[in-house]
Amino acid sequence: MDAHDHRQLGAKLDLFHQQEEAPGTAFWHSKGATICLLLESYIRSEMQRAGFLEVRTPQLMSRTLWEQSGHWSRFGDNMFVFEDGNRQYALKPMNCPGHLQLFRQQIRSYRDLPLRFNEFGVCHRYEPSGSLHGLKRVRAFTQDDAHVFCAPEHIDGEVSRFCDLLRRVYRRLGFDDFKVGLSTRPDNREGSDEVWDEAEATLATAARAAGLSFRIQPGDGAFYGPKLEFILTDCQGREWQCGTIQLDLVLPERFDVTVANSDGERVRPVVIHHAVLGSFERFVAILLEHHRGRLPFWLAPDQIVISPVSDQQDEYAREVSDEFASMGFRCTVDAADETLSRRIVSARERMIPAFVVVGKREANDRSVSIRELDGKQITLSIEAAADHLKRLEA
Ligand SMILES: [Zn+2]
Repeated sequence: MDAHDHRQLGAKLDLFHQQEEAPGTAFWHSKGATICLLLESYIRSEMQRAGFLEVRTPQLMSRTLWEQSGHWSRFGDNMFVFEDGNRQYALKPMNCPGHLQLFRQQIRSYRDLPLRFNEFGVCHRYEPSGSLHGLKRVRAFTQDDAHVFCAPEHIDGEVSRFCDLLRRVYRRLGFDDFKVGLSTRPDNREGSDEVWDEAEATLATAARAAGLSFRIQPGDGAFYGPKLEFILTDCQGREWQCGTIQLDLVLPERFDVTVANSDGERVRPVVIHHAVLGSFERFVAILLEHHRGRLPFWLAPDQIVISPVSDQQDEYAREVSDEFASMGFRCTVDAADETLSRRIVSARERMIPAFVVVGKREANDRSVSIRELDGKQITLSIEAAADHLKRLEA
């Protein structure tokens, strides 16, 4: 077993599996789905705090829309296309065109800006079967995608707010630092050189204003604009590009998106695309490998296992479990007919962060003994134990 391989960890910890019938996608088991949901609700709360409005947009959209966005000609080889009579549809490979449709649903004024949408959007992209790799290279993934419609003078502020958000989220996930790359115009692109000159210079200025130092990654930008890429280094020193901020002066033009300025004239807003994790699937893979399966306490699908020393404490163990569960912890009782030391080994193997033992003494004075993964052991009242475990959650 290689603790650095998320596919092996996924099987061992009962998180997900993949089958030949669904190449490049995951079957999430309950514990794996729990990790995804916890990550999603965490990102959701951060996005709400940052002023984003959560939306959902269609999975399948007509070829005409993808032609208008430029995806059909620039990204068509990576799209799954379907025929319906004489119309063609494609599964969305990105959420941006959907968000531009939402923006266009109303006549907007500059006073509405910045307007921020976010979506946990399921995207499909064709990847050759030979390049698929576990959850890291897939054909279907959920993106924590977001688009900010703003005026040029908002760009610095939006970039800087987003960098603060990234720092906070990455730290909570166990990554204290990141590197930044500025990806510039690719050969396959939309928009004139003047538009790209302006977009690249603006993004570089915003990045410097946000206190970032970055390396230039020539030619790695999206077809509609340059991007800042946030690169995490895992416990093995491998680099993973996760977050992105992209500045887009092209899609607003292609979809004729406008707002009324203070003189009542129609002007184009800027669109900033960004994502914190990128793909949930890939991020879970990186997290599993970075932590060797021992996720931070708040992300562990099973946080606590409660083990009675003998069957005389079974009832007390269930009481403790109910009490912890009512406080929001995810816990189970392991009253298996095995020795306590065997049960400890089993909990360790399943990477459950806290092992709680209740014996005669604990049942009598309504306390619990907590053994953490690092071997630390303390005996506390149920309430004090809950406070102690809550601190692990922070
Ligand atoms: Zn986008």
